[in-house]
Amino acid sequence: MTEPTHEEAHGGALAERLNWLRAAVLGANDGIVSTAGLVVGVAGATDDRSALLTAGLAGLLAGSMSMAAGEYVSVSTQRDSEKAALAVERRELREQPEAELEELTELLQDRGLSWDVAREAAVQLTERDALRAHARVELGIDPDQLTNPWHAAWASFLSFTVGALLPLLAIVLPPTGWRLAVTVLSSLAALVLTGWSSARLGAADPVRASLRNVAGGALAMGVTYAAGTLLGAAGV
Ligand SMILES: [Zn+2]
Repeated sequence: MTEPTHEEAHGGALAERLNWLRAAVLGANDGIVSTAGLVVGVAGATDDRSALLTAGLAGLLAGSMSMAAGEYVSVSTQRDSEKAALAVERRELREQPEAELEELTELLQDRGLSWDVAREAAVQLTERDALRAHARVELGIDPDQLTNPWHAAWASFLSFTVGALLPLLAIVLPPTGWRLAVTVLSSLAALVLTGWSSARLGAADPVRASLRNVAGGALAMGVTYAAGTLLGAAGV
């Protein structure tokens, strides 16, 4: 006899890994765009390396912590509502098991099973693990795989930081005459990569995604550079 729960667990784990990977790529993308925009803007106003380093580092820290905090809050909220829904489900299963069996049967019927098969499946699922069956079929969640908000926060923090390091190093390491070109070109090249990978992970058209991504990054750097140049020229 086969073990359907095993295969489901593998499928779920793979989907979850892909989600994590995609979130990491998007976090790095954010780090590249916002930090590149920041340091290119400051470079429009000043040649001072320590000002560039300070701005870039502050941008990196502010961005990564804001991403981590945002992710922590949003995942915690989602987790709280999933836990609340599971608690309601657990109580219903305890207080009215017959109605819950009926409900599971109807939900399975809605998915295209005949009543007989749906009832048989509902009975077996209920015997195996009633809460998990209701969580999956009714709520669409896996009670063993609720996302940990700390993991999500760390992942955002790290991926943003990795992305932000590229423009930060690119603006402070090269000689003065080269730093803008190196930063703009390396950031745009990295945005091709992140746009391409996130599209591939989401099964979307990678060419169009990369072009959009590069256009967005170029726009951000163009706007901040113009603003920085104006401020620098005005002597602010
Ligand atoms: Zn239920």
